[in-house]
Amino acid sequence: MGGMELEKGMKLIDENGRRIDGRRPDELRPIKIEAGVLKRAEGSAYVEWGNNKVLAAVYGPREAHPRHNQKAERAIVQCRYNMAPFSVTDRKRPGPDRRSNEISKVIAEAFSNVIFLEQFPRTAVGVYIEVLQADAGTRCAGITAGSVALADAGIPMKDLVVAVASGKVGGVVCLDLNKEEDNFGEADVPMGVAPRTGDLVLLQMDGHLTAAEFDQAMKYSMNAANQIYELQRDALRRRYAVSLEDLKVEMQREAPPPAEEEPKYDVYYDAQPGVQE
Ligand code: UDP
Repeated sequence: MGGMELEKGMKLIDENGRRIDGRRPDELRPIKIEAGVLKRAEGSAYVEWGNNKVLAAVYGPREAHPRHNQKAERAIVQCRYNMAPFSVTDRKRPGPDRRSNEISKVIAEAFSNVIFLEQFPRTAVGVYIEVLQADAGTRCAGITAGSVALADAGIPMKDLVVAVASGKVGGVVCLDLNKEEDNFGEADVPMGVAPRTGDLVLLQMDGHLTAAEFDQAMKYSMNAANQIYELQRDALRRRYAVSLEDLKVEMQREAPPPAEEEPKYDVYYDAQPGVQE
């Protein structure tokens, strides 16, 4: 809530069509993504999305436990979405609850649609999402971070998953609702998409939209998904980019130490058969 407390019935859209944080209806909050932020996990990513701060880590594929969870022909995806007690204004009671179980489930299902599960029978891929600071849209930030972490872990996937929500506030369809808009708005529609194929892998709706409003919301979200996809790919490129400086250091390390004195060899040439010297 960041100090900005709203009363019910307060204006969410001003006379210039601006939202309470100054955005236009089709504007995203600022997003930063970093890949490979944790040393011990096989893959990881950190996302700041407006006032959301979310960390994702990936383990696996590893033998699934308990064994009765194993699938003989494919891997399973296990996800734990967790909110830190200090992530929200009123300290959140630690541990899983109905909401976090639901979010964990839909996120695991979203990733199951893009991971090549049949390549790893009897294993589990674990995706851990820790919300450090929440400001609405944490499941979307979590999915966006989680899929970068999966790629960072080298898990074979059809595509990254991008997630973003659109909804309706003060009668206006808006992209990427913040906490106040989520609380006092009329609807919120988080969606997850694999941009390369356009496959929808998550779609939820809280509140009510007309068909026309829903179409507008999906247009905003799809357009934003492409922008976020670029940020995800950028983060992965940065993670694996080798700078010229790194290369120089690497080459110096590999080159044999220069000899103190040039060894002197007799230089001779083998005459090619048939060639007169
Ligand atoms: N929230 C909270 N306490 C809770 C759960 C949620 O303060 O126990 C806040 C939090 O800021 C969260 C927002 O409500 O981001 C919206 O929650 P929602 O269930 O819509 O999920 P999200 O939009 O984060 O995916």
